[in-house]
Amino acid sequence: MTASNSHGPLTVLVSSRAVISQPDNSLTVSPATISISSVTGKIVSVTPEIVPQSSFPADTTYVDHSPKLLLPGLVDAHVHLNEPGRTEWEGFWTGTRAAASGGVTTVIDMPLNAIPPTTTVAGFKEKLAASEGQLWVDVGFYGGVIPGNADELKPLVEMGVRGFKGFLIESGVDEFPAISPKDMALAMETLKDSATTLMFHAEMEPCAGHTNGHTNGHTNGNTNGESNGLTNGHTNGQTNGHVTPSDVTAYQTFLDSRPPTFETTAVQEILSAAHIAPSLNLHIVHLSATQCIPLLKAARANGVKITAETCFHYLGLSAEEIEKGDTRHKCCPPIREGRNRDGLWEELVAEDSCIKTVVSDHSPCTPELKLLPKELWSATESAPAQKKDTAAGDFMAAWGGISSVGLGLPIIYSTAKQRSKTSKTPTITDIVRLCCQATAEQVGLSHRKGSIKVGMDADICVFDDAEVWTFSQGDMRWKNRCSPWEGHEFTGRVKETWLRGRKVFELDAQNGGFVGMKPVGESITEQRTA
Ligand SMILES: [Zn+2]
Ligand SMILES: [Zn+2]
Repeated sequence: MTASNSHGPLTVLVSSRAVISQPDNSLTVSPATISISSVTGKIVSVTPEIVPQSSFPADTTYVDHSPKLLLPGLVDAHVHLNEPGRTEWEGFWTGTRAAASGGVTTVIDMPLNAIPPTTTVAGFKEKLAASEGQLWVDVGFYGGVIPGNADELKPLVEMGVRGFKGFLIESGVDEFPAISPKDMALAMETLKDSATTLMFHAEMEPCAGHTNGHTNGHTNGNTNGESNGLTNGHTNGQTNGHVTPSDVTAYQTFLDSRPPTFETTAVQEILSAAHIAPSLNLHIVHLSATQCIPLLKAARANGVKITAETCFHYLGLSAEEIEKGDTRHKCCPPIREGRNRDGLWEELVAEDSCIKTVVSDHSPCTPELKLLPKELWSATESAPAQKKDTAAGDFMAAWGGISSVGLGLPIIYSTAKQRSKTSKTPTITDIVRLCCQATAEQVGLSHRKGSIKVGMDADICVFDDAEVWTFSQGDMRWKNRCSPWEGHEFTGRVKETWLRGRKVFELDAQNGGFVGMKPVGESITEQRTA
């Protein structure tokens, strides 16, 4: 093996264990020597053995990471960066640094919570401008489907959005209204021949579904999030056959307000329209309720092109463990009971699983909007000023969204490891498929992201699968240091992250680990071809 001049000096990453792609794109754990062009940042060769440094020219950068795992950089296909417009919630700078610190080399930004949202070409241009000079990893963008923007969808495809998201229930922000079944059908009709993915926040109030054709009859005068609880802070009483007294600090109150039927109703609505666009990729974001799984599997068996993703928090947390007032756990759809969590894990390893990807749905907000009680707000951070103490711990009024970009790999790896004692769980190659390879495919980037093989961007995550550590507030690199994962013990920690052949993060190194000093991430605006 020698360097070719056209590649410039090589960077060579080596380990006794790497998850690499075979010619048929299946994944295997193998020793590996990965050679990277310093000119293109692409992988120029992968040898399934350890080639000694002496085999390379003297100007080669050679790093042996044995016995740590070399993985493809993660592609987190569901992240809310909120800039411009709600940059106090999160931003390109902090969000992408958090991603880099956790081996995530590509994030795909959701179209809502920024102002303007990415629902128009003009809005997308503003977002791209805001991202300039701020990206520590590569960032792609979704467009949004809202009522009345059908004419913007194809121009957004041409501008390189990775897919579209629409809500079948109120989103929690005024700029991003829910779509009706009619709007959904129009979006399918508009995009039916495009290389893109049409995705849905699949919660829908059963009473609002087929009959009156709209989902958004309530007004949402408060600060709730992607997505909020029902609008007025009361449970709807229809779920368990009894009216729950409104203890809004009890997690059960919130859980009852968004039952599995919200998810199954939405999935049925989507499936009932799928015939409009038989060749369009349809996708359910953040699937929580296992009751959707048989519906999706049956549709897939009938040839409907529909997939689903679930999130790290649905796999790692359960309703039973959420304490009174701990609004850090609020997200929509909600984290459900332990038996639901078990069902999601079962589906991940099932034959022809409908859950193809696992993503963060990182969706932060300011501490004020999270309404976290003072005792749950870490002592090192100044407790947020609250307008009135009665709001603290109110699950119904708090913003819904969990911060976790950059933490996904330790979450899924540790939880799988623990569960493997009693059940079949995803292996490290499965995890790479779920979080790297298939997420890249979901957003039309599998020709350059999510795999270690020749020709791909040299995005590499160095993962020490043996290190046991506890996630503390000091480890949080998000703009707002608030997460239900605080205090959790994990097995497995990201030690280094390489983006297109350059080391962008090294744990415990200078400058907070951001060894590059300057962000070298890029916005991804190439048009999808698949
Ligand atoms: Zn959503
Ligand atoms: Zn989301």
